Amino acid sequence: MTGAEPGPAASAAGRAFSVGLRNRFRGITVREGMLVRGPAGWGEFSPFAEYGPRECARWWAACHEAAHQGWPAPVRDRVPVNVTVPAVDPDRAHAIVAAGGCATAKVKVAERGQDPAEDLARVEAVRDALGPSGLLRVDANGAWDVDTAVRMVRALDRFGLEYVEQPCATLDELAAVRRRVGVPVAADESVRRAEDPLRVRAAGAADIVVLKVQPLGGVRAALRVAEACGLPVVVSSAVETSVGLAAGVALAAALPELPHACGLATMQMLTADVTADPLLPEDGFLPVRRVEVDEASLRAVEVDPAGWRARAAAARAAAEGVPGAPGAG
Ligand SMILES: [Mg+2]
Repeated sequence: MTGAEPGPAASAAGRAFSVGLRNRFRGITVREGMLVRGPAGWGEFSPFAEYGPRECARWWAACHEAAHQGWPAPVRDRVPVNVTVPAVDPDRAHAIVAAGGCATAKVKVAERGQDPAEDLARVEAVRDALGPSGLLRVDANGAWDVDTAVRMVRALDRFGLEYVEQPCATLDELAAVRRRVGVPVAADESVRRAEDPLRVRAAGAADIVVLKVQPLGGVRAALRVAEACGLPVVVSSAVETSVGLAAGVALAAALPELPHACGLATMQMLTADVTADPLLPEDGFLPVRRVEVDEASLRAVEVDPAGWRARAAAARAAAEGVPGAPGAG
């Protein structure tokens, strides 16, 4: 275990990882990034490969906050999370929910190549596994047009929907769906930058916003976004290691109100972790705590850090021009 290293030296000593994904996600099969240890603990810097330095500046700010500043005081000591059901057959969906131990399930729908009957059968199986008191949300990842979304949301609401996440791609489409169905709409893909939640609200496009810590530049930055936006927040992960997930848990723990379960139970999507004590749900909740990197676990997934250190340096340089992001430090 390396000791705490102050200031820029910590980023220079960042350690890179590459961890397999159990299923393809966003077209990728491995999740890669860099871990940095500072005086406050470990931080994760894991922007997706296609992001340039300006976008990465916010992800770097989140890592820097975790390592050097720590997080605001929590107002709760555990965070409710949902189990996620991929676009699988009904038997598999039932088994995933039954094994998950969560009172809330998120079901992927509108998968390319599948038909509406498959969505209905999957959601019915999930409702059966959850029981009548469980909360059931569906996520279309922006795949429907407005008419299809309206038709499908009405049909799926037979099984009782908590909300529908990103039924369509654009804000105008989300607003149109929202006017035509009684089920609340959540915006996920529509929220990528700090100013997006305000645009979502101004467009009347959603009842709920999904926020992620790294793209928004850290826990404090995300808290400011949540406050400015004023809509209920669901905190979600960017499919990070437990080090990155801990920042999402810290955000969920610090929000004044947390009316919905969060999408932070994603550790199982990875084939390995960098800690001996992964952030996995217990009875549908994640504990609010820091995560210590385990040297043997990290070594097992460690890769050459040169490329990641260069990305971090470029992100720090770009941060000079990004409002709200800290510069090199
Ligand atoms: Mg989503």
